[in-house]
Amino acid sequence: MSALLDTGVKLVRNVDRFSIGSGSINSLEKVINHRKEQVTDSKCVGPHIIYLVDEFFRDKLSFIPVKAEDRVIYISTAEEPTTKSIDHLTQLILQNNLLLPAAIVGLGGGVTLDTTKAVSNLLTNGGSAADYQGWDLVKEPGVFKVGIPTISGTGAEATRTCVMTNVESGLKLGMNSDFTVFNQIILDPDLSRTVPREQFFYTGMDAYIHCAEALSGSYRNPIGDAYSREVLSLCRDVFSSKEMMSSANREKLMVASYLGGCAIATSYVGIVHPLSAALSVVLGLHHCVANCIVMRAMSEFYPDYYDDFWNMVKLQNILIPSGVCAELSETQITALCQSALMHEKPLTNALGPTFKEVLTHKKLKNLFLMM
Ligand code: NAD
Ligand code: ZN
Repeated sequence: MSALLDTGVKLVRNVDRFSIGSGSINSLEKVINHRKEQVTDSKCVGPHIIYLVDEFFRDKLSFIPVKAEDRVIYISTAEEPTTKSIDHLTQLILQNNLLLPAAIVGLGGGVTLDTTKAVSNLLTNGGSAADYQGWDLVKEPGVFKVGIPTISGTGAEATRTCVMTNVESGLKLGMNSDFTVFNQIILDPDLSRTVPREQFFYTGMDAYIHCAEALSGSYRNPIGDAYSREVLSLCRDVFSSKEMMSSANREKLMVASYLGGCAIATSYVGIVHPLSAALSVVLGLHHCVANCIVMRAMSEFYPDYYDDFWNMVKLQNILIPSGVCAELSETQITALCQSALMHEKPLTNALGPTFKEVLTHKKLKNLFLMM
């Protein structure tokens, strides 16, 4: 690793409030009622709540205090958020009510949480989602937002971004802003009981990979480092356990996900994420499984984490797809390489400012062919 670099992250905003533990979902009603009291006299905010809910929970929402004036919108996870999908959803919400909602509640995985954060910002700031892809472009606080993760790993419940792909420009970038951070999150491990095993592993490993990349990099923050070390330890406990999805492990992974989000908010990822983002943009692979696929090619860059990762894959008997680039044309390979190289900050973090001398076209092609 080259000399340590300053991340440039100076003032860190965390989630305002969180609650954690089995049954903590029951605190939602109190949070909502309190919020409604706060906006009673507002002329532009109505009493209604918008719930954005992962489609998995359709017909399974008895634990949510939905009232007649509220609206539940189900979020498909077939595709990860795009700037278009965010614009469309925001229009849908505004069409039905001229008043802003008192709160917007996101219940689901990274897709639903990111959608909630983006829509919240757009409802108060106007314009299109693409206008805010970047750093500190959001000018006004969003609608009060509550995040309730139902699967753990991405840290989307903690971060100041919401990842969206702009299909036209090929840009996969979020609204990085203090206004993107949730006002309240509820971490109830009972909600992740139904996650399929393989998905539990793929998404959970996002926390492990974020922190392995952060701790291997040159841009460092001492608080981020401390979070990252704890995340690695929690993930190793969970993924080395005989009963990976026990209730204790589901709670541990919820903590790891949240702390991993706090860690990554103060530092940067490394080589895995740029290559994974390229697989998502060019081949449409979802973020967390794409990370695991990239780990196939990471032995020379992260040898210890590579061994650790593949030991956990073996122990849990998880299928990681392979050969995803085997049949690609030269044009597609070139698109993958170009897309990966767009992520200059993480690549500098991992390999220094001369990263393009290491990641030549030939080298990147070989790495993609290992996946
Ligand atoms: P996801 O939201 O698509 O969830 C994964 C799958 O699990 C989906 O099929 C979903 O329906 C299902 N699921 C969720 N909870 C479930 C439950 N309790 N029971 C059964 N099934 C359940 O994906 P993800 O892996 O959570 O998140 C990936 C997304 O997060 C990507 O869009 C990525 O860009 C984003 N991300 C955001 C950040 C951030 O800081 N904002 C960081 C990393 C990744
Ligand atoms: Zn990630």
